[in-house]
Amino acid sequence: MTVTLDRPHTTTAAATPHTTDTPHTTTDTTADRPELPAVTGTELRVPLVTGEWTRYVNLDYAASAPALREVAEHVEQVLPYYASVHRGAGYASQVCTGLLERARETVGAFVGARADDVVIFTRNTTDALNLLASSVPGSVLCLDIEHHANLLPWRGGPHRALRAADTVERTLEDLAVALAATPTALLAITGASNVTGEVLPVERVVAIAHAAGARVALDAAQLAPHRRVDLAATGVDYLALSGHKLYAPYGAGVLVGRRDWLDAAPPHLAGGGAVRAVTETGTEWAAAPHRHEGGTPNVLGAAALAQACRALAPVLAGAAAAHERALLGRLEAGLASVPGVEVLRIWPDSPDRIAVLSFVVTDRPAGYVAAYLSAEHGIGLRDGKFCAHPLLERLCPGGDALRASIGLGTTAEDVDRLVAALRTLVTTGASWTYAPVDGRWAPTPDPRELDPLGVGLPGGPGAGCGTTAA
Ligand code: PMP
Repeated sequence: MTVTLDRPHTTTAAATPHTTDTPHTTTDTTADRPELPAVTGTELRVPLVTGEWTRYVNLDYAASAPALREVAEHVEQVLPYYASVHRGAGYASQVCTGLLERARETVGAFVGARADDVVIFTRNTTDALNLLASSVPGSVLCLDIEHHANLLPWRGGPHRALRAADTVERTLEDLAVALAATPTALLAITGASNVTGEVLPVERVVAIAHAAGARVALDAAQLAPHRRVDLAATGVDYLALSGHKLYAPYGAGVLVGRRDWLDAAPPHLAGGGAVRAVTETGTEWAAAPHRHEGGTPNVLGAAALAQACRALAPVLAGAAAAHERALLGRLEAGLASVPGVEVLRIWPDSPDRIAVLSFVVTDRPAGYVAAYLSAEHGIGLRDGKFCAHPLLERLCPGGDALRASIGLGTTAEDVDRLVAALRTLVTTGASWTYAPVDGRWAPTPDPRELDPLGVGLPGGPGAGCGTTAA
């Protein structure tokens, strides 16, 4: 669909009241939610195509969450000590080595790791699941609704992707049948869908898999920032998560789980740090976790992730879950009141949902709506296929969707601004024109200053995840 929408440029402010011409300030005010850890960037101000400035509404936590204020402070505190890990006798090196190994324990405790589980620092969930894929001694089963990170790594070996049924109950039945039919080493499953926020009953999934002799890997990239995950209590064998979705955007993720496969697997990154001894022709590899952490470790990323775990553990099941549930309810009610907005679901009987949802707007390409929300309302959310192409093809064939996701810094006002902006769009239309530029919808013209940090604008479009302005 090619649409050049809507009306010619006017300088009329859109429905939401915007304020002044104040440029970027980043003071954080979370005084209204003292029980929740504060996040950075909540008072960021961004330019609109109309020439005004407004407070940025970040509804894209599911892609990458802002750093917790205390995570950023912890990294600042660590920086003077920053030095090489595991290699130096210097004081700072020793501090950093302790920091890395302590971070391993903290992250393990956060996910309820068993005493003999290993915690391997990776770059992110994708990296963690690729590492696990190289260690599975047999066939893998997953669902077809998974994020590509929990779909593509398995394609390198024996695997099956089972079509998820239209209810959780039938999906569980189908999993049991598929596992009984074919010997399976690993069932790799999402904790919470990155498209619909829907959650599977993890303990039941584990019981079904274990009864068939399969282990379970949980893609907790989306679940872990919203719900307590406990390996020991649930019986989940492996878990992967990303620091940048867990309010610690400093480049670390983890794979946590049973030692035997990981000790037997080829090293994830062959090189320094992963070995016990090297001769001219031979290599004696270290055991996990070091076996898979070749090269200089990302100690700042690990320390940030551990600090996020320390901050989240006390609030995750209580205040944070209550905050997100209230805002998700508000968002759902608001979207239901806007004509032409349809929320996507896989499983109407999902036992729980995290504060992530996707929707489509009748007759408006998702990329167009996202560009409008950004350009006229200062609202950031995700559009496209969310790296879950097979699922999107089922939920909105041939099309893209929009995804709004809520986190610790989200306010009721943020949700209301999205709903009001969508209502303005479907009732009176946009105030600006939009057209595909380099494969993405963009305001035309776009008078906003898009390089506030002064680093220069990119020469071409970046890599995406299947977003097309068509
Ligand atoms: N799994 C899920 C459910 C996700 O949402 C994502 C990120 N969108 C990933 C895996 C991959 O995470 P990362 O990009 O941090 O590797």
